[in-house]
Amino acid sequence: MIANNPESFDVEVLTANGNANLLIQQAKKFNPNAVVIVDEDLYKQVFNALDPLGIKVYSGEKALISIVEMESIDVVLTALVGYAGLRPTMNAIEFGKQIALANKETLVIAGDLITRKAKENGVNIYPVDSEHSAIFQCLVGDFQNKIEKIILTASGGPFRGKKREELLDVKAAEALKHPNWDMGAKITIDSATMMNKGLEVIEAKWLFGLDQKKIDVVVHPQSIIHSMVQFEDGSIKAQMGMPDMRLPIQYALSYPLRLKNDYPRFNFINYPELTFEKPDSETFRSLDLAYQALAKGGNLPCIMNAANEIAVDAFLRDKIGFLDISEVIEKSMVSMDFLIDPSLDDYVNTDIETRIKAKEIINKWKVH
Ligand code: MG
Repeated sequence: MIANNPESFDVEVLTANGNANLLIQQAKKFNPNAVVIVDEDLYKQVFNALDPLGIKVYSGEKALISIVEMESIDVVLTALVGYAGLRPTMNAIEFGKQIALANKETLVIAGDLITRKAKENGVNIYPVDSEHSAIFQCLVGDFQNKIEKIILTASGGPFRGKKREELLDVKAAEALKHPNWDMGAKITIDSATMMNKGLEVIEAKWLFGLDQKKIDVVVHPQSIIHSMVQFEDGSIKAQMGMPDMRLPIQYALSYPLRLKNDYPRFNFINYPELTFEKPDSETFRSLDLAYQALAKGGNLPCIMNAANEIAVDAFLRDKIGFLDISEVIEKSMVSMDFLIDPSLDDYVNTDIETRIKAKEIINKWKVH
């Protein structure tokens, strides 16, 4: 996206967890001030490649959290996977950096804390998630008008239309074949279980300050309408386009401008049918679990998220079946201690303890 608009952006920092090669490649292209490679075993490789170019190289989780404090940074795009995004995002907010948020789990885990801190520090959180970007784009020009409801669209994932019996033996490779979007493993499995939509319902609540009754989900297999807003006069605005993550990333970084690009355009003639259906909550139970977590609040969404991360990881390693994912989440949600008003430390502890509990649940199954 930045390569498309080099005059509009300066890359100050790039970070990676373990993909040293891509980090080096991107750093050579965009010449940032500094890079962070989280995996300390890869420090030498990155240092040897970039130090001669005058790019500072740091390593480790602490560096990842503190690098956002650099004065020259205006916007931080947080695109870590899962819980790992919480502390770096929180720190960026504390230091008054605007946030382009791709890491939805941060809002799922600690939406109340994050949004409160953002307000205190004058920080705007610009959604990168395509559905939330769509809603944000629909709201531009209508910020003064009340939202009657938002309608999040869901592709339905690779198993749309399948029943529970058909999903008993599916393997990770099948779940990883997303029909429309090219994304990482964790989010692709979340799409297959519909947990991704559950996480997005919670994300929407915090981004747009909505009661959960005002957040609907509709399955739209073509992924052309990215989401909709219905106003109090009954009028619905939708944002449409090709399923291409570069668009929401670009808008989050260029708002309120729309930058010219040459990405593929949507053509109505190629899509004679845009269809819509109700989510199948009997087959895909995770969406309901997310609504339950949101209704009860406190640390329950954090519990749900941690259990989901463990369950998805176990499924990817073939330790549990596809339908077991929502079982592990549900069992974790009922067995963990509920806290109504958690602090950041409470969230951290809830996350740690839930991971232990979810692993216990998985291991007990294996004995049977
Ligand atoms: Mg999304």
